[in-house]
Amino acid sequence: MAQVLFLGGLGRSGTTLVERLLGELPGMCALGEVVHLWQRDIRDDERCGCGARFSGCTFWRRVGEMAFNGWANVDVDRVHALRDAVERTRHIPRLASAAAASDEVREYASYYSRVYAAAAEVSGSPVVVDSSKHSALAHVLRWAGDIDLRVIHVVRDARGVAYSWTKTVSRPETDGADEMTRYSPGRSALLWNAHNAAFGLLARRGVPVRRIRYEEFLADPRAGLIRLADFAGVTLRPEDLDFLRSDHADLRVGHSAAGNPMRFTVGRLPLSRDDAWKRALPSAQRRLVGAVCGPMLRAYGYPINVEAR
Ligand SMILES: [Zn+2]
Repeated sequence: MAQVLFLGGLGRSGTTLVERLLGELPGMCALGEVVHLWQRDIRDDERCGCGARFSGCTFWRRVGEMAFNGWANVDVDRVHALRDAVERTRHIPRLASAAAASDEVREYASYYSRVYAAAAEVSGSPVVVDSSKHSALAHVLRWAGDIDLRVIHVVRDARGVAYSWTKTVSRPETDGADEMTRYSPGRSALLWNAHNAAFGLLARRGVPVRRIRYEEFLADPRAGLIRLADFAGVTLRPEDLDFLRSDHADLRVGHSAAGNPMRFTVGRLPLSRDDAWKRALPSAQRRLVGAVCGPMLRAYGYPINVEAR
């Protein structure tokens, strides 16, 4: 049975950084955002974190052979149809209240289970890390019978998240042809509430969920990683964290299938808090997001009033 560490949270909350650091730990293999593997990798043959095209990456080729007897045997249209039928934010209440999973939920989850099991086998790591983030997918995976699912719920200050969503980021894996999605602060504030609430609901359904605040994690990544490894059931030796330096991490090549451009970083990854929103997010928008997200910001321990710097 594959042990899966699912990184959840609204995009731009720091999940990629947490994933890259977890991927350096012994016994853990970081897969990137598996939710995008079907379209971006199997279909579009985008680049793996190692720099190779998906079809040219030895790691993923072996995973595909083990999971499906080759990626060519995956019916991507079927995966997408199942996704549309079961993996939507609006389906979460149904997923969370159901007494049993529908055949479609089970079938959709099985595609992921097979990837996880094969990746664990090929990498020799007992724990695989999926940073797909989507709360609806986490609720689907709750019904996968053959995985040990544990969720790390990454929360970042809604105003920092909102500011990040207003910025333009290109996607290097498409050779500059495509940019990442952008949201207005009002829109991302609503998404922030919905996605974070969904992970609270998942925890109440009995899934082991460990919530971390991104800002707190960055303030002491060593302590944060020790706690997360413990949550995953992995025991670390002190030297396992030698890749962490005072202000950066030294990363090796990884095989993240999809996600934030940080998945391509090899070598020095700065570990500094990005508080640019405190200067750059206009005060009207800061107040809007603070009002919309107020109750949950407070519940997570964030200050509501933040002075501009
Ligand atoms: Zn690769």
